[in-house]
Amino acid sequence: MLNKTRLLTPGPTPLPERVRLVLAQDMIHHRKSAFKQAMHATQEKLRVLFGTEGPVLPLSCSGTGAMTAALHGLCAPGERILVIEGGKFGQRWREIAQVRGLECLTLEVEWGQAVRPQDVARMLDAHPDIAAVCVQVSETSTGVLHPVRELAAVTRGRDVLLIADGISAVGISPCPMDDWGIDCLLTGSQKGLMLPPGLALLALSPRAWEKAAQVAPSCFYFNLLKERDNVLKGQTLFTSPVSLILGLAESLDMLLEAGLDAVYRKQWALTMMARTGAKALGLELFAPAHFTWGLTSVRLPAGISAPDVVKYAAEDYGVYLAGGQDRLKSSVIRIGHMGWVDWADVLAGLSALKASIEKAGGWCGSRDYLSLSFAAYRQALEGPAGAPLPLIHS
Ligand SMILES: *Cc1c(COP(=O)(O)O)cnc(C)c1O
Repeated sequence: MLNKTRLLTPGPTPLPERVRLVLAQDMIHHRKSAFKQAMHATQEKLRVLFGTEGPVLPLSCSGTGAMTAALHGLCAPGERILVIEGGKFGQRWREIAQVRGLECLTLEVEWGQAVRPQDVARMLDAHPDIAAVCVQVSETSTGVLHPVRELAAVTRGRDVLLIADGISAVGISPCPMDDWGIDCLLTGSQKGLMLPPGLALLALSPRAWEKAAQVAPSCFYFNLLKERDNVLKGQTLFTSPVSLILGLAESLDMLLEAGLDAVYRKQWALTMMARTGAKALGLELFAPAHFTWGLTSVRLPAGISAPDVVKYAAEDYGVYLAGGQDRLKSSVIRIGHMGWVDWADVLAGLSALKASIEKAGGWCGSRDYLSLSFAAYRQALEGPAGAPLPLIHS
């Protein structure tokens, strides 16, 4: 009761009041005209968000469901794929592929680093039977942004599909799928889209649709071709996640009213703010070079346990941070700043992080991290007049 709850986790993320009010509405029927209208309106906005001409399919599942639907819909058992594995979500591609019976080659990337497109090109040269490359646009477990635009430049000229998990990237950093040449882009509702979990979105390129038409369905529920037929009629194959779709219409309105460029710039500025603050606290940034715009991962000083820091920040300050994942569980803290998170939340996050590290027995120095991080935010947000956003990986 004494603190506001600040959800600075890399999903789920806080819900804006406008979205919560829509989610509170009574049910409407998913086969009637009001819902169909909402679906059609949502499609137009989703195409802007995804940067695609094609339909964007809503699926009733978490993000992993869309990853599953993509691999099952685009690859047949026995086909060979290449998975880029530089974190927990890269591993998940491999796990899904194994259940699907795919031949899985893995390109291992050191956690905290981004994949090098030339390494992918070399793998594709050595194995001309690779049908698809699976990657995370943003590897949420490490805070890395992979060079998806450059990867697409490698795959688009070959007979290889690029399947991109954009769950912590869509609505957070630019990822225009048609322009870049991504064949499958998917996301989930609970990160940049400011919605509760439970809805996933997936879009395919024309050549991916051709491929999907050749793959026999592997299960009854996920059927991309049937979902596409339904979406064109303002419907979904089975009962729609009605409230989430109506909430999505509202959150897309918010994003597009602000303008995607402004949204991406805000995300960039929050990233600069968190990174500057963490450095001023004497913390080592876990993704030093190619970092995502929706979260900041930091290494804790030796001997300080991440679960303790997470616990103190929540109990004492109402700030919910995330620990690391897997082998980084006790040594890394992730500060989420995607979706409905603003500069004041990030300042709160930095303050809670410092106090919690100190409570756990660490020492963060005496630099004025708040002023430094706020100055970095303002500079990134305002920049020189009309300055373009930094080009990713250029
Ligand atoms: C959150 C996340 C997922 C997992 O999504 P679920 O909704 O938990 O299934 C997968 N990939 C990335 C990159 C994510 O950030």
